Amino acid sequence: MDVGLKRELEQKVYAGERLSREDGEALYASDDLAWLGRLAHHVRTEKNGDRVMFNVNRHLNLTNVCSASCAYCSFQRKPGEKDAYTMRVEQAVAKALEMKDEQLTELHIVNGLHPTLPWRYYPRVLKELKQALPNVKLKAFTATEVQWFEKISGLTADAILDELMEAGLESLTGGGAEIFDWEVRQHIVDHACHWEDWSRIHRLAHSKGLRTPSTMLYGHIEEPRHRVDHVLRLRELQDETGGFTVFIPLRYQHDFHDSADGKIRNRIQAQTTMASPAESLKTFAVSRLMLDNFDHVKCFWVMHGLSLAQLSLNFGVDDLDGSVVEYKITHDADSYGTPNTMHRDDLLHLIWDAGFTPVERDTRYQVVKEYGAPVSMAERRSEPQQVWA
Ligand code: SF4
Repeated sequence: MDVGLKRELEQKVYAGERLSREDGEALYASDDLAWLGRLAHHVRTEKNGDRVMFNVNRHLNLTNVCSASCAYCSFQRKPGEKDAYTMRVEQAVAKALEMKDEQLTELHIVNGLHPTLPWRYYPRVLKELKQALPNVKLKAFTATEVQWFEKISGLTADAILDELMEAGLESLTGGGAEIFDWEVRQHIVDHACHWEDWSRIHRLAHSKGLRTPSTMLYGHIEEPRHRVDHVLRLRELQDETGGFTVFIPLRYQHDFHDSADGKIRNRIQAQTTMASPAESLKTFAVSRLMLDNFDHVKCFWVMHGLSLAQLSLNFGVDDLDGSVVEYKITHDADSYGTPNTMHRDDLLHLIWDAGFTPVERDTRYQVVKEYGAPVSMAERRSEPQQVWA
C-alpha cells in the first residue's frame, strides 16, 4: 500500500473518523497484517479495554429438514433422508435440560425451513423451554426463519415477533445474512430472504426492544469489496436503530462430516478453499475498523480453532461465543482438532492464556460475572512454580 494512504488511514482511525467504502477496500488490499491488527486493537481497546466477553450457551437445532438448498450448506436434509430429524417439543426440552448444571444462560436455536411443521410448533417450543429453564434467555430463529413463518402462517412478521416474544423470545439470531450483495448472494442462497427482508425483520425486532446480533459468511466466492459492502449496510442500519449487539464474521466451512453418506450437499466445496487464518484475522480487523457504531466483534471459535480465536483478540475481537455444545450447522468439530464443546472453565483459561480479562455476559451483553485479570509474566516469575519436588 502507498505510504501516504497508509498514513492517511492511520490518522483517520486514531482520530476516530468514520471510514469510507474506499478506505475499507484499501484496508483489505493491504498485506501488512500486523499493521491492520495494531489499528484494530487500538479501536478494540478504546471500546472494551482488555475485556473479553463470553457466554455459557447451548445450541439447539430443532430440525435439519429444510425446503431450501443453499449452496454452502451441508446441514440441510430433505424429508425422508436417512438422518433427517425433527425434535418433538419434549425432546427439545430434554436436550436443553442436559445442561442445567452448567449454569446455562442462553439457548441458541436455529433450524431448517421445515416444509410441513406448523407455525404453532415454534412458539410452543419456546414456551415449554422457558417453563423448564426460566432463567435461560432464548435467542432463537434467523430473519430467514421469521420470513418462513410469515409464509407458513399467513401472519405478518409483526404479529409473529409479538407471539414469539410472548412465548419467551429474547433475541433473534444473526444468521441468514451470508453476503448481502446480490452479485454473490444469487449464487449461494436458495431461500427468499435477502437484504430487504433481513433488514426489515431486524429493524422490526429492534423497534420492539429486542437487541440482535449480525453476521457475515465470508471466504467462499465473495471478494473483499462484497465484505465491505456488507458491513456498510449493517453500519447504516445500526445508525438508524442502534439495536445490534455484535458483529460476527463466520468463516465458510467445508464439510468434514456430513458427506459421510456420499452426498455432497455443500455444492461450492469443489470450487472453493476455506479462508486462511491470515484472511480471517484481516476480516476481523477490517470489520472492527469499519463498524464504528458496533460495541462488539465476536469470534465464533468453533469455526476458527482455539489458537486463532486467541489471536483474534489482538485483531479487533472482544467476544468469544460461548460454551457451545453440539454445533451442527456447519460441522461437528473439524479435522483440525477444534473441540465441539467448551465449558466455562475452558473459556476462562483460554482468555487468560491469551492475556485478556474474561467477563461472562448474557444474551443482551449485560455482565453476569467479572473475573480477575490474567497473571502477568512478571508475577509468574516472581513466584516461580517448583518444578522438582
Ligand atoms: S442455510 Fe439454512 S435455509 Fe439454507 S439450506 Fe441450510 S438450513 Fe436451509
